[in-house]
Amino acid sequence: MELLTPSGKPLEQLEIFQKRMLKQILSLPTRCPDPAVYILTGILPIEAQIHIKTLTFFNNVCHQSEESTEKKLARRQLTVCSEASNSWFLNINKLLRLYDLNEANTYLANPIKKTQWITLIKNAVMKYWSTKIVQMSELYLGLKYLSNQNLIKGKLHSILKHKSHSALDNSRIPTRLRLITGTYVLKTKRIQFYREKTDPTCLICGLQEETLEHFVMQCEKLQSVRTVILKEVNDIWQNEMNNTTRFHYLNITTQMQMLLDSAKLINLNKYNSASAETFSSSCT
Ligand SMILES: [Zn+2]
Repeated sequence: MELLTPSGKPLEQLEIFQKRMLKQILSLPTRCPDPAVYILTGILPIEAQIHIKTLTFFNNVCHQSEESTEKKLARRQLTVCSEASNSWFLNINKLLRLYDLNEANTYLANPIKKTQWITLIKNAVMKYWSTKIVQMSELYLGLKYLSNQNLIKGKLHSILKHKSHSALDNSRIPTRLRLITGTYVLKTKRIQFYREKTDPTCLICGLQEETLEHFVMQCEKLQSVRTVILKEVNDIWQNEMNNTTRFHYLNITTQMQMLLDSAKLINLNKYNSASAETFSSSCT
């Protein structure tokens, strides 16, 4: 029971290992903001997963007979131990409170059916952590284009979901992941990371600062590469998505959002009744 609930240093080591592995699988650098890996994979931090296992085990204890050692121990610890003690069942109570569930005694007296219990705790744990991760992600400017709807549902991000048969499409994924997590090394980023006296001016055109928007949409020198691709984008935007305004006339933020992670706008369009206004107001 004690092994099931690591805390402090061992838990921290597990967290570090999990984050490092997920970043490696996604070909993202270690400096990539942590919330991004949870949002992209739809995987919860180790701590949350351990909580699910711990609470599942607690439910097994609830279903045992009153004569079983575990249940006797539960009754005893919950009655005798003080709130400050480090007893296993009091820790369970703390977890139950964290996830807005009832006190341990309630479930010991009236055990919930296993399948129902798993749904209940998974939803509670998912709700708590996805809210926390989304709030954290909002603190990172580099993650402003990353949509987080999939995390709330515990699913893989749409960027990674559609397996393409085209090798070219697949080879684009790592670049897209870097652009969307703010880890693509642009000249303006270089200053933040290395704090050197680096010039933020774009080396290709030498006219403006090399921001994400400049690199993807605005740099004049890249226009020849961009034209062909943007024509294709506009065809999809107007013909398949039934938009009357040309892609070219949308404001830069909407264009960037569509190119980097359209899920954010599409979800908005689907669920927000004011979606029509959102789109028309973004046209200049
Ligand atoms: Zn440029």
